[in-house]
Amino acid sequence: TKIDRIRNFSIIAHIDHGKSTLADRLIQRTGGLTDREMTHGQILDNMEIEQERGITIKAQTVRLTWNGYELNLMDTPGHVDFAYEVSRSLAACEGALLVVDAAQGVEAQTLANVYQSIEHDHEIVPVINKIDLPAADPEGVRQEIEEIIGLDASEAVLASAKSGIGIDDVLQAIVDKIPPPKGDRDKPLQAMLVDSWYDPYLGVVILVRVMDGAIRKGQQVKFMAAGTTHLIDRVGCFTPKRTDLPELGPGEIGFITAQIKEVSETRVGDTITDAKKPASAALPGFKEVQPVVFCGLFPVDAADFEKLRDSLYKLRLNDASFSFETESSAALGFGFRCGFLGLLHLEIIQERLTREYDLDLITTAPSVVYKMHLTHSKNEPAQTIELHNPADMPDPNRIERIEEPWIEATIYTPDEYLGAILKLCQDRRGIQKGLTYVGSGAHQRAQVKYELPLNEVVFDFYDRLKSISRGYASFDYEQIGYREGDLVKMSILVNEEPVDALSMITHRGTAEQRGRGMCERLKELIPRHLFKIPIQAAIGGKVIARETISAMRKDVTAKCYGGDATRKRKLLEKQKKGKAKMREYGNVSIPQEAFIAALRMG
Ligand code: GDP
Ligand code: MG
Repeated sequence: TKIDRIRNFSIIAHIDHGKSTLADRLIQRTGGLTDREMTHGQILDNMEIEQERGITIKAQTVRLTWNGYELNLMDTPGHVDFAYEVSRSLAACEGALLVVDAAQGVEAQTLANVYQSIEHDHEIVPVINKIDLPAADPEGVRQEIEEIIGLDASEAVLASAKSGIGIDDVLQAIVDKIPPPKGDRDKPLQAMLVDSWYDPYLGVVILVRVMDGAIRKGQQVKFMAAGTTHLIDRVGCFTPKRTDLPELGPGEIGFITAQIKEVSETRVGDTITDAKKPASAALPGFKEVQPVVFCGLFPVDAADFEKLRDSLYKLRLNDASFSFETESSAALGFGFRCGFLGLLHLEIIQERLTREYDLDLITTAPSVVYKMHLTHSKNEPAQTIELHNPADMPDPNRIERIEEPWIEATIYTPDEYLGAILKLCQDRRGIQKGLTYVGSGAHQRAQVKYELPLNEVVFDFYDRLKSISRGYASFDYEQIGYREGDLVKMSILVNEEPVDALSMITHRGTAEQRGRGMCERLKELIPRHLFKIPIQAAIGGKVIARETISAMRKDVTAKCYGGDATRKRKLLEKQKKGKAKMREYGNVSIPQEAFIAALRMG
């Protein structure tokens, strides 16, 4: 295709504003699929969980042909956990459709995505969707787009993706408003690796955006950051059906395969060039993604350990951004320490393991990555280490200071929930950075900005926010770097012995409250023994919370075991069997269920 006939665009929207529905409708209108093939709904969201949760995890691209134009529609993951993937996809486009729900107006993720898009110098075409709804207020939303985002929305397209209204207008606006890509066919090949995934038939499939030059079947290419060379064996695009092509020219988006076995050999953001005639420099902006939230995953049934390992390997085939390594815990046995891009990412992986791989798992409390500045010791020099697991906490005497990651959160909420939300942020060590009102009338909402330690958000912040606002508040965040914090490791001791799986790093100010909560729960969960069991939360040697499980009364036992000898033997046998699933701490048998319950409520 001639370059001035190409348009590359993405769709940005807050969750549920109609991005997937609009994408389906565009595919249908341009003839990518017949009506019969459309019956599946949400063509681009092809993973089961994506469909159920209505979120897109992996970016996909579809080539549409319309009025002699080649339109490459790039679907982007809408959630902040996948911000880097979003950013790569945006870098491959010249424009974006901004879809805003005509009844809901601008929301937190609309804004975050728009700002990213603006940073990439995109031409943004506002689309006010769902105008078929009785509650639709296109005029109000148009004003909101101008007022909050500062975009000219006078020519915003009014559409209903569901009823098929305004679809041709959307296509025409793409052609008219979004500029064609720039690129030079005569320059050496320079293509950006936008995404990659594992396909059982093709091996690793790589999504690329060609900047200059062309990429062809049979070409020897070099991945500049990875430093590897590969022979291209297939070039094509998705319409959304896979279609092979002889080449991808400048400005085009499509896929290549090169007999690559694992996704981990490819790096999103890498530059692909010709091995014989390489470009002089790589494209800007290559960044290694780093997991920011870690937790332990343990099989409830120890026999499932190998199955868990296999399943993690399989999931890794399609997602090089999560990491895992074996971990052993006295309480939970063998499992894995896993790293994720964020909480949603953690939940998705956990859910896929449970659902698709049929595993019953225990998840330890999520932890962020702390930077520990250590003084020198007899054997080691002063150094800074990254701590992913509270169990690896270094000797407190060597800790000079600890830094933790912070985020800036943007929350939109109807006024009536504002008080409760401010309190929640305040309780989580938040620093208020701004409070303004946006929109008017029924659309008016408060926009609150807070700086918060990520550590306070990974526990249950999002759930709490949703419940106190009855689902009306929207939330988004970005990381803003590390700050020093008064952080301590809190250990939980059962009958004077520390239980590794329950230890956590918390702020000194909230440690007591957390510790008390954990002790109270364990008191309920651990059965009585013949002796008194102290349950303590401690920082270093200092106990900050304590509960006691009183001893079973002798006569109760006597009654229970007394009399009938067979009954007594049966009871003992039953106990022995039960023991297999118990863990011993300072002579106290703790049923596995107690750990699971304690952690799940954590
Ligand atoms: P996404 O999260 O932005 O991808 O949103 P979806 O495309 O999954 O749409 C979310 C919900 O809104 C679905 O139930 C859609 O059927 C519905 N929806 C999408 N577009 C329209 C529209 O134009 N009108 C109405 N009434 N509903 C719509
Ligand atoms: Mg969607």
